Amino acid sequence: MDIFKPLDLTNDSQTTDIKNSEKVKCLIIGSGPAGYTAAIYAARANLKPVLYTGLQMGGQLTTTTEVENYPGYPDGVTGPVMMEDFKKQAERFGAEVRFGIATKANFSGKIHKVTIDDSKMIEAEAVIIATGATAKYLGLEAESRYAGMGVSACATCDGFFYKGKDVAVVGGGDTAAEEATYLAGLCRKVYLVVRRNVLRASKTMQDRVLNTPNIDVLWEHQAIDLYGENGVEGVVLVKQKGTPREETVKIKIDGFFLAIGHTPNSDIFKEFIHTNETGYIKTIPGSTKTNIPGVFAAGDVQDPVYRQAVTAAGSGCMAAIDAERYLSEMH
Ligand code: FAD
Ligand code: NAP
Repeated sequence: MDIFKPLDLTNDSQTTDIKNSEKVKCLIIGSGPAGYTAAIYAARANLKPVLYTGLQMGGQLTTTTEVENYPGYPDGVTGPVMMEDFKKQAERFGAEVRFGIATKANFSGKIHKVTIDDSKMIEAEAVIIATGATAKYLGLEAESRYAGMGVSACATCDGFFYKGKDVAVVGGGDTAAEEATYLAGLCRKVYLVVRRNVLRASKTMQDRVLNTPNIDVLWEHQAIDLYGENGVEGVVLVKQKGTPREETVKIKIDGFFLAIGHTPNSDIFKEFIHTNETGYIKTIPGSTKTNIPGVFAAGDVQDPVYRQAVTAAGSGCMAAIDAERYLSEMH
């Protein structure tokens, strides 16, 4: 497996000129379910974790209203409240939660160096990367206007709210096919908005979409706007854009789902850490170990498949246990 291939780790230039440094046993980067869960376990294992939150304290769930599929909340919970609970639980056991962004990483030595806000260097014996992934949006002004009011980038998370209603899913890959099929089981009608005249999704997924009676594929359509009084009531689409047959159509929908891919937040680690072709950090199967001893990855940044809060939390727990074992073997 190429994950074990040695890297050329000679370039130390990016982190050598910072004077303000601090040594820590366990550094956690990211404050979503993966990062906070890692912090809870690491703190209880006496690793004295220091966690940097990044810009989005609490992670992706702070951008949603109801979370109804996280075990332990029988009546549901809002994303921000749930993430505040995670934080409090981590702090209760002594995790130090700090606001700051990891801006550079140098994993060339036994001690791992991570620069925070371009101004402070953390020298850590173990690092847990839990920086998540960011759903891609089309970039329409309407997407922010209707955020939490009919626009979603997660069908598994929000599909339930559209039971018996009509929705549109944008995208032509496996995620779009999977989300459209999932929504078809809940909704009255699903429009799959595909910008080309082919699907990128695998043959099996394509067959599933094309054989689902309540999915209507809108080939060569592009969404350009959304409308509605107090939430999404419809989408404006351009059909066969740029051709003589170009036409604008409006379709009534209650929910608008984006499924055009995610970007894992792994850029600053890529010089040292192996990633797949779309940037997800590769971990050794069955563990959270990366190709660098002492550097672990948890949550969406290493998970192109499940991308759920509970799976992120689960792998955060694994990362702390992996880090604890690594540190006990080191000392
Ligand atoms: P994230 O939650 O993405 O957190 C990443 C963290 O890393 C953030 O705190 C960020 O600030 C930090 N970070 C990033 N870069 C840096 C850096 N350079 N330095 C320091 N910190 C950094 N899942 C469910 O199970 N149920 C739901 O109902 C649900 N609803 C959702 C609704 C929406 C709108 C979205 C977008 C997602 C939803 N999800 C849901 C998916 C869920 O949010 C993710 O699977 C989960 O948050 C992933 O957790 P994570 O800890 O890996 O990363
Ligand atoms: P993807 O394969 O990159 O597909 C993204 C889709 O979104 C493409 O169809 C693309 O159109 C479309 N798109 C991108 N930007 C767009 C825009 N601005 N406007 C309209 N459409 C746009 O991403 P993915 O579907 O998330 O899959 C990512 C990876 O995970 C893939 O390797 C996939 O196979 C895998 N995956 C597998 C499964 C499974 O096996 N069950 C499930 C989900 C994901 P074009 O085709 O025109 O480029």
